[in-house]
Amino acid sequence: MLCRRCFRDSIVEKTRRTISKYSMVHHAEKVGVAVSGGKDSLSLLHVMSELRTQYAWELVALSVDEGVQGYRDEALAHAKAAADKLGVEHLVLSYKDLYGFSLDQALGWDGRDTSSCSFCGVFRRRAIDEAAAKAGVAVVATAHNLDDYVQTFLMNLLHGDVGRIGWLDPSYKDGSFPVRRVKPFMEIYEEEVALFAYASGIPFQTVSCPYMHEGLRSEVRDYLNEMEVKHPGMKNVLFRSGLDVISNYNSPDARKSVPCSKCGKPSSTGLCSVCRLKAEVHQHVNLTDP
Ligand code: SF4
Repeated sequence: MLCRRCFRDSIVEKTRRTISKYSMVHHAEKVGVAVSGGKDSLSLLHVMSELRTQYAWELVALSVDEGVQGYRDEALAHAKAAADKLGVEHLVLSYKDLYGFSLDQALGWDGRDTSSCSFCGVFRRRAIDEAAAKAGVAVVATAHNLDDYVQTFLMNLLHGDVGRIGWLDPSYKDGSFPVRRVKPFMEIYEEEVALFAYASGIPFQTVSCPYMHEGLRSEVRDYLNEMEVKHPGMKNVLFRSGLDVISNYNSPDARKSVPCSKCGKPSSTGLCSVCRLKAEVHQHVNLTDP
């Protein structure tokens, strides 16, 4: 019911309100924006760019090259073009440089007990932390939207991983993690973010990652979309339920961390997931293969 311009403005304003409500980013802060080159992250970069003068933010676009042949190159080109157009510094770190292998190589062995995205996500989160440190930012904004949020909430329940639900707290701050992560789109539907990208004429990556349909998340996404069609508003109800659960779930152990014995980064068990999975890759994969 809104014209193109009013719709765009409504998304920028909604994002601004979310950032303010949860004190996600402070005035005059240097902010890393995680940009994959897809519609969500490029929309976020544009919205943050529109807000930056008002809040005196300095923005840096942070991209990760996982090393997926035929997929990531196009996305990175879109990320670079957008950063150049908006006058934002762009930093790219690759799995190959950070870990010694590409995602294609790392996933090329049988017997893995984690889905590709869970596996990749461990390395990607660390890569973003490394990029943030390199760029000198203490806060990174990611483009997770309301759909991503409710999917993660439901997946944590389905995995029996209740402790991780605390991680979804939008205002959660833990001094043991060097980089604050914020989700300015967390109150906006995925569909609306996509529409923002189209309404803004933002070119984005259209090819999907070849590994994306392997995990439970795809099934949860389909299920939630189906429920939303049958019962409009259900995603929003689940989103509010997630926030309520978090505010009532105050386990002191919810996100307790100890330094990893190998790399010293925060971990829940004394060995972080990056070091554990890296050791598995080196054990199972011949990394001299291209
Ligand atoms: Fe990694 Fe999954 Fe994203 Fe592909 S879709 S880049 S495997 S997180």
